[in-house]
Formats: sequence, C-alpha cells, structure tokens
Amino acid sequence: MKRWGIITTLLAVLLAAALFRLAEQRGWIGLGAEAKSVDGMIQEIALRDSGDKPEVEEDQLYKGDLLLVNGDYKIRPQGTQPDITELAGKPELLGRAAMLDHKIELSRRVALKFAAMIDAAAQDGVTHFMISSGYRSEAEQSKLYAEKGGDYALPPGYSEHHLGLALDVGSTQGMMANADEGKWLEKNAARYGFVLRYPADKTDVTGISFEPWHFRYVGLPHSMIMQRNNLVLEEYLDLLQEKRSISTTVEGREYDVRYYGPEEISQIRLPKNRDYALSGDNRGGLILTVYP
Ligand SMILES: [Zn+2]
Repeated sequence: MKRWGIITTLLAVLLAAALFRLAEQRGWIGLGAEAKSVDGMIQEIALRDSGDKPEVEEDQLYKGDLLLVNGDYKIRPQGTQPDITELAGKPELLGRAAMLDHKIELSRRVALKFAAMIDAAAQDGVTHFMISSGYRSEAEQSKLYAEKGGDYALPPGYSEHHLGLALDVGSTQGMMANADEGKWLEKNAARYGFVLRYPADKTDVTGISFEPWHFRYVGLPHSMIMQRNNLVLEEYLDLLQEKRSISTTVEGREYDVRYYGPEEISQIRLPKNRDYALSGDNRGGLILTVYP
C-alpha cells in the first residue's frame, strides 16, 4: 500500500508539472492577457545580410532605454543619454509642468515624451505637476549622497538619474501618493513609455522604499508589458532573459521584443524593413525591440 501511495503521489506531481508547463506555453498563465511569448518570431522579419561583419558592437550592451542601474549595477560612461539638455526656458520640453529650480536637465527625447504625457493629463484636468530632479552627474550625486546619506540617495554611479531617463515629479497640491497627479501618472504613465520605478509592493525587489515621485522612461512596449504583468525593471529583464522573445500588442499595434545573451551579440542580424531599437540591460544582455 505504501509503495502505491508513493507512486500515486509521484504521478500527481508529474501531471501537475506537465499541466503547468502547457499552461505557461499557451500563455494561460505567467504573462498578461495581451502579452504572449512567441518562439522564432524573428524569422518572420526580413533580416539584413551583413556577411561576416558583426552588426552590433559590444559597446551597445551599456547603452539604451532598458539599462538597469541599481545598487548592484553601476552605470558605464556610455549609459548617459547623448542628448541631455536644460529644461528651463524650453516650453516644448516642459509641457505644463513647473520646476523646482532652473538647473534641471533631462534627455531631450525623453523630455518631449514627458511633455506629451503632461498634456494628456491636462485633458483629464490634472495640471499641477512639479519636476524636482532630472539628470544628475556623478559629482552631483556624490554631493547629494554626502549631504543626505545612504537612506535617501544611492552612491554615485548607482543612481538611475545618471541615465537622463529618470525624473522626480511631484504635485504642488500635496503628497504625490495621494495627489491627483500621482494617481494619474501611476495609472497612465505606461501608455507613454514611463514606469513608476519604485512601487510600494516591490521594495524587496528594487531595494528602494516606495517613491511615488520617481518615474523612469523605458519606452513602448516595455512599459505596457511591465504594467500589465506588475513587473519592475529587474523582474522584466529576468522574464525577457527566460522567455527570449515576447510579442505584444499596444493600442492595436504589434511589437516584437527579443533578448540576446552576451555570447550571441556577434551573430545578431538586424531587421531590414522594420524600425527597431537596441538596448543593453547593463548586465550582459541585449534587447532588440522591433516596432510595428
Ligand atoms: Zn528619483
């Protein structure tokens, strides 16, 4: 009897594992309703024929919108966006947002996306945004770290603010967590490529306490996949590394995302007739995003 009990238990475990695997493959679990993993999707995209010459240089591993910069991963010099600019006196970059001081800088490309998002918030009657910080050099972070300490600021080199892709935005109406501005961004930022980087329920993953004011640009479709599946950047990069490719639809347009490990970089072929973006993850991987 004892042996039959063990065999039955073993069979039940195997059956459960097989069902789980099937459910995962079919996309019934794991990924959100609109995100599905598609193996070999890149075959459907016409790729360039570049002969033996590598199309992607190693430098690319440390550049791009999906770089992970946190307590474990330090930014490399090439990680800072090349188009950092002051926001003061440029209404096309500021949108309707106020600024805490006149020295705030950000990637120009990201500031334009931010301004478009703030315009959309205004259509919903949410208008009291105040930007308090954008791009920070390592020297500025060093000063902040010395003044405020490790509980408030990351050591120089380990802050997302060095990328030029992150900004702190508050409300002139009160605490961001309770203000309409904070609630609107938490709900809608993903549609514009931004994510709330340090949510309250992910402090164990990010290692950072809840920061309702800190938003990071990662671009579409990544922000939407992260929101639908409740993932922070650390978890999203783990998912990409595991799934290798994800195909997803945002507002009726289909995006393909593919992850490459460090040993595959030299063999990557880029799409011939589709727009795409490359980004390193700052931990050895490279992500190819193919746009609709
Ligand atoms: Zn911040």
